[in-house]
Amino acid sequence: MAKSGQRKGGTGAGGVRPDRSARFDLVPSTAQGLSSIADPKLRKEVQEAISRFSTVFGGVPERVVKVVDLAADFGAQFADSFAVQAEGGVNSWYYRGIFINRAYTDNPKEFRARVREQYDLGWFSPTTKPVRHIIIHELAHAKWSSQKNSRNARKAAPEISKLYRQWRREKRPGWGNYARVNRNEFVAEALTKHAMGSRDRYTKKLMKILEANNL
Ligand SMILES: [Zn+2]
Repeated sequence: MAKSGQRKGGTGAGGVRPDRSARFDLVPSTAQGLSSIADPKLRKEVQEAISRFSTVFGGVPERVVKVVDLAADFGAQFADSFAVQAEGGVNSWYYRGIFINRAYTDNPKEFRARVREQYDLGWFSPTTKPVRHIIIHELAHAKWSSQKNSRNARKAAPEISKLYRQWRREKRPGWGNYARVNRNEFVAEALTKHAMGSRDRYTKKLMKILEANNL
């Protein structure tokens, strides 16, 4: 989630500190609703990703999902990011929500091609639906963020860390290097793989830990 985990073409979730104060739950100035996605197929893919997440995990952890000019609202370093998940902050950003880069929603072909490029580079864990992947990945961050300070999450954290360390020691086929950035990216990619049907013993183990702790 940290900015250090972001790189060109990455989804770049985060760098934004949690702030529970509701008055800082602001949306970026360029934010527009999903209905502003001109391409009907892309719009449907985004909406289906949200539905899929809701079906698999029993709800949507973040209701604010908007299209944003990321470079304008988050800075030039986010110009190439696909989407960000922000949690409200105390420094330069007070935004909270999942924000998809308008630079890509305006160019669906480019969007899909660039995510596939990240598959080819071994960055993302490859899936068959690049757009769905990006949205579910950010929703997965939002899910964990909304739970991570709970007693159940604190209880589950050591086991999740252990699983992450085990996974890191092995070179797993079907996983990209993004999941190696930190435990948060591992969890986000694992939940994405789970939701998209490319499960393995690691995604299964993670789901088991989460379910055992009502997460
Ligand atoms: Zn991420």
